[in-house]
Amino acid sequence: MKTITIVGGGLAGLSLGIALLKRAVPVILFEAGNFPRHKVCGEFMAGVTDATLKELGIAEHMKGAGKLKTTSWYYRDKLDRIEDLPRPAIALSRYTLDNRMAQKFKQLGGDLRTGVRISKENDEPGRVWASGRQIGRPIWLGLKVHCHDFPLNSDLELHLGNYAYAGASPVENGRVNVCGLFRRRPEIKGEKKHLLQLYLKACGMNSLAERVANARTDPQSACAVAGIDFKPLSLSQDRLCLGDQVGMIPPFTGNGMSIAIESAALAASPIIAFAAGKECWTVTIKTINMRIRKRFRVRLSLSRLIHPMLYHPKCQRILVMANRARLLPFQTLYNHLH
Ligand SMILES: Cc1cc2nc3c(=O)[nH]c(=O)nc-3n(C[C@H](O)[C@H](O)[C@H](O)COP(=O)(O)OP(=O)(O)OC[C@H]3O[C@@H](n4cnc5c(N)ncnc54)[C@H](O)[C@@H]3O)c2cc1C
Repeated sequence: MKTITIVGGGLAGLSLGIALLKRAVPVILFEAGNFPRHKVCGEFMAGVTDATLKELGIAEHMKGAGKLKTTSWYYRDKLDRIEDLPRPAIALSRYTLDNRMAQKFKQLGGDLRTGVRISKENDEPGRVWASGRQIGRPIWLGLKVHCHDFPLNSDLELHLGNYAYAGASPVENGRVNVCGLFRRRPEIKGEKKHLLQLYLKACGMNSLAERVANARTDPQSACAVAGIDFKPLSLSQDRLCLGDQVGMIPPFTGNGMSIAIESAALAASPIIAFAAGKECWTVTIKTINMRIRKRFRVRLSLSRLIHPMLYHPKCQRILVMANRARLLPFQTLYNHLH
């Protein structure tokens, strides 16, 4: 068997690595950071099926994860509506999930090299790019913090603010993850642990900001990410990319982690055929790209259309009125977005 190298130890890279090792394919995985660590993420995973998790051999890593069944919508501090999620979403912190998967990868004999950043020019047959989002314009800022003593009105709260939206959902150990996506405001400055509160306030989500201020927060969990962009699906004929590398879905869907895992599932069997010498790398990339396009094209396009409606004040008003009048086909949209 040929060795496969994976760049990036997020959910796409680790899921693929574990699946390949289980099929006796040798894998080297390069990760720029270390494990465990907190990542900016809403930490609710919607869309991925049990069958996909089992197929990849990662179902066991969801142990202890919450199942989110209800969601509430807040518009400028006011609770607007509570509804059932069409299918339960998985709730687990990235700190725990990524670390569990990294440990499993090593247990299976994978060669995990942390603190190593691979340059883009360094491509070769058998190399998979699972290195996360492509860096975009500095318009958006993602912020998150874990809070203790933070009662929720539903399993998942979604808050709409001025050029921003934020979510709150439970993760393990009685914590609640509060995470938001904000239009960057260079005038707001502060330590990471206070930045989320400052942004929530500036965007009119005052009661959520107050709840964060009154909660016991874990300063280690406070993190920020900039340079987020929601580009259309971008597939390369020359290099194999998975997860956010092929296009990042806006976070309101809670589907980015699922896409990372699903893309690993779509890629596993063609890569095994390559490793066994049954297929060349060019055909392997082509086969996987076709599968990715078919599975994710509609999701990514539709979510990019809806995204501005969630953060733009005028569009939010229309959306909220339509939602109150029960004119939004929530279930149908959900099905197309997951
Ligand atoms: C504000 C915000 C909220 C979100 N909320 C949710 C949510 O609630 N639910 C959901 O499903 N998704 C959410 N997402 C999206 C989700 O986090 C991503 O879609 C998911 O992490 C993608 O996984 P990945 O493996 O492709 O990339 P990542 O998890 O980003 O992993 C990529 C890894 O590659 C490493 N790396 C990068 N470059 C190199 C290099 N050159 N060499 C070596 N290593 C490298 C990085 O260190 C990183 O660990 C959110 C995103 C944001 C920004």
